[in-house]
Amino acid sequence: MNSVSSQNARVLSGMRPTGQLHLGHYHGVLKNWLELQHEYECFFFVADWHALTTHYEDPSIIPDSSREMVIDWLAAGINPGSATLFVQSRVPEHAELHLLLSMITPLGWLERVPTYKDQQEKLKELDLSTYGFLGYPLLQSADILMYKAGQVPVGEDQVAHVELTREVARRFNHIYGREPGFEEKAEAAKKKMGKKNAKLFDSLKRRYQEQGDQEALEVARALLDGQGNITLADRERLFGYLEGGGRIILPEPQALLTQASKMPGLDGQKMSKSYNNTISLRDDPAEVEKTLRTMPTDPARVRRTDPGDPEKCPVWQFHQVYSSDEVCDWVQEGCRSAGIGCLECKRPVIDGVLAELVPIQERAKEYEAQPDLVRSIMNEGCERARDVARETIDEVRHAMSLVMV
Ligand code: SF4
Repeated sequence: MNSVSSQNARVLSGMRPTGQLHLGHYHGVLKNWLELQHEYECFFFVADWHALTTHYEDPSIIPDSSREMVIDWLAAGINPGSATLFVQSRVPEHAELHLLLSMITPLGWLERVPTYKDQQEKLKELDLSTYGFLGYPLLQSADILMYKAGQVPVGEDQVAHVELTREVARRFNHIYGREPGFEEKAEAAKKKMGKKNAKLFDSLKRRYQEQGDQEALEVARALLDGQGNITLADRERLFGYLEGGGRIILPEPQALLTQASKMPGLDGQKMSKSYNNTISLRDDPAEVEKTLRTMPTDPARVRRTDPGDPEKCPVWQFHQVYSSDEVCDWVQEGCRSAGIGCLECKRPVIDGVLAELVPIQERAKEYEAQPDLVRSIMNEGCERARDVARETIDEVRHAMSLVMV
């Protein structure tokens, strides 16, 4: 659990602009976003600077890719009334926070992030021996900390990035959270809660600090959350005071672990443009049907009469995403006994995929026809994001004594 619950309710997530999205993105990321947008205050952003960390040589595709990606978000049902959608480079405060955090981040922390070496190995065709690439996890930290996001939805491979963010936030708060007269200010803030609450706070703080009582910590946090009559700065002071540190300026986020997408590519590998095994959200339905009809099956089923094994067939993985238990039983039985043919088996999958794509494509058409609407949604989102970012960067500048007197 994080320290400031109003911020716990904030979620930040971004996607690099790679153009039109496919079913892998839909099942792996967007369906999750669709749920999150109703539960949390969400900030979803186009990570265009992140795209430059690996593809700085060809930035010309970024504007079109960004627009197409946003159209897909909207078409999938991301609601700009519920979530703030913005473009990273249009909130330049991200760059400032990244720079300021870079001053306190030991080089070793970045070199140790597992994706640093992994990606260099995997993306051999790219020159990733750049300062930008080494620093991209810190740019992510700046993205997250800017919104004081409590929750960051990530897959397993990104957990280390959230961990880095937590360490950077801790270090920042440790160095800059100790404002002059901290204890006096915290005591004054405590009094503003009223006598009874101040006494309760003291006893909970003592139980936590002297006996390590976690329950007391949780109760005290809830007590602070419930205080409507103290300022955010006072609340942050009291959170820090409670835990025995300084003022918490940048709260530590939590990784909200998302399940890996079960959606495979047409060949059974991960669905990815680089494997050429994708179905894009806006592919023509006739084309989608043709692609699915010709997708590979268990190679053992050469003739209709040959029994097969669904475990060796990518179509079965599609059934697991799209079909009911009843249909899955029918597939298992029919495949192993050669009771059904592969085309027959693919029918429910084709129907399922097309049914999923129809409403998305209808909405996409509407947004494609109204580029001004998409632009104004993004303009509004960028403004909203920037308002929050300005507040954070102001606090950070003050904490780091970067204000002219
Ligand atoms: S019957 Fe279905 S599961 Fe079996 S090999 Fe053919 S497509 Fe795959």
